[in-house]
Amino acid sequence: MLGLMQNQPLLISSLIDFAERHHGEGEVVSRRVEGDIHRYTYKQVAQRARQVANALDAMKLQFGDRVATIAWNGYRHLELYFGISGSGRVLHTINPRMHPDQITWVANHSEDQVVCFDMTFLPIVKSIHARCPTVRQWVALCDADKLPTDSGVPNLSSYEALISAQPNTYSWPQFDENTASSMCYTSGTTGNPKAALYSHRSTLLHAYAACLPDVMCLSARDAILPVVPMFHVNAWGIPYSAALTGAKLVFPGAGMDGKSVYELIESERVTYAAGVPTVWQMLLGHMQPAGLRFSTLRRTVIGGSACPPAMITAFNDQYGVEVLHAWGMTEMSPLGTLCTLKNKHLTMSDEDKMKIRLKQGRSIFGVDMKIVDADGKELPWDGKAFGDLLVKGPWVVAEYYKGEGGNPLVDGWFPTGDVATIDPEGYMQITDRSKDVIKSGGEWISSIDIENIAVAHPAVAMAACIGIKHPKWDERPIVAVVKKPGMEITREELLAFYEGKTAKWQIPDDVVFVDAIPMGATGKMQKTKLREILKDYKLPGL
Ligand code: AMP
Repeated sequence: MLGLMQNQPLLISSLIDFAERHHGEGEVVSRRVEGDIHRYTYKQVAQRARQVANALDAMKLQFGDRVATIAWNGYRHLELYFGISGSGRVLHTINPRMHPDQITWVANHSEDQVVCFDMTFLPIVKSIHARCPTVRQWVALCDADKLPTDSGVPNLSSYEALISAQPNTYSWPQFDENTASSMCYTSGTTGNPKAALYSHRSTLLHAYAACLPDVMCLSARDAILPVVPMFHVNAWGIPYSAALTGAKLVFPGAGMDGKSVYELIESERVTYAAGVPTVWQMLLGHMQPAGLRFSTLRRTVIGGSACPPAMITAFNDQYGVEVLHAWGMTEMSPLGTLCTLKNKHLTMSDEDKMKIRLKQGRSIFGVDMKIVDADGKELPWDGKAFGDLLVKGPWVVAEYYKGEGGNPLVDGWFPTGDVATIDPEGYMQITDRSKDVIKSGGEWISSIDIENIAVAHPAVAMAACIGIKHPKWDERPIVAVVKKPGMEITREELLAFYEGKTAKWQIPDDVVFVDAIPMGATGKMQKTKLREILKDYKLPGL
């Protein structure tokens, strides 16, 4: 017997309809690439998203056609999120930090028909347009009078000119909720990138889940600053969850440096921020020397790479800001786990609470996980056994776009490529990426643990640990370190700093001081590049 409830498809257009109707006056504030602050309401987002939909219709775009963006976090990007997906087209967010050849590759692979870009990225568009035969319209996200006349880019129009010609009324189409809504290519460190193709259903379920109190805990009383980019995994779904709750949205535009982020948090009374550890490193680096304080920020979600304990302590103890450590990936829309305490933990000592907060957290309802050994046998949740982490759920990929790479699932589970432990309370902790873990004398060393200790030293800005071939031990860890400006530390001092903080055999064999650690397009350390740079490096004594 079927239930007798209304069968309404879960569609992205309903989010912006809801925000307009119930939070029409809710604010959306953006630092524009033009440099000024732009301020308007959800009602205006909705009106302009409908103008976008009309403009796409006028271009004769078909249902399911791909429309790409190369853009910072900003109000026009938000309108495109709703206008493109809401009208049944597929939003393809392109990461501008990829190499232009890779951008060309993804634009061709997804067969983008239209590409909308911030003026910052005009040089990229100039260098790729001739190699993108499927693109029939390039749209610069600017006013009509700012459109360059000598760019050489054919079929180039201004976004404002394009949408202002359209009415702001539109009847969002109703269709199957499993229809594709947006896509995001993985960073593709090996081989060509592969795309996760999200659906309206997966996006809405993810948006609901993200708002839960033990997940991101978002509400109409929040002012949210997503520093995490809208060009990578939909800014962790925040644009959708913000519309669902009516929270104020604050967009940083191109200003991701510590000073710009701090000023925006203060001037817009941000209560909630989300980003990768490097962004928060820059923020703390700006605030600490100047003795600055937050007046409204209460919580920050940190994920994308392991959040160093020193960062959690700094936010928590010095600034009274709660850190929510999060884990996920492109293939998971992206949220998988978030670290919040259970009731039984509240009476624990601060030190014990910290041990939990450092973990990547508990599964969100909707994400099932398990760890397995090399033979695929499930390992116990004892907080000690570590193995390959597999996940499944309604916002986890079933396969990649165009079937690229074959069937990624193992008995219905998606292998994340991460190695993790899970404790009896269900808290998962990432030990490493499976390809980064260091195998020494038959034992595994977590490169994340080694990096976390190094960055706890006051003179260390960044650290990356990699394994170096060793004739006896197979591999031994070394740590590449970037010093904080104006600070000094020697190899010996850092190695001594490890004493007592980890097992002796896990202490790195050497410290290599570098000016910078190569960072990838998604703000993660690129250890493959670092290994290349250090390919002639020899371990001491060998
Ligand atoms: P991406 O698909 O580019 O977002 O990258 C996903 C990968 O980032 C995951 O598989 C993890 O290896 C890593 N990652 C994400 N969040 C965390 C975290 N909190 N701690 C450690 N690694 C993380």
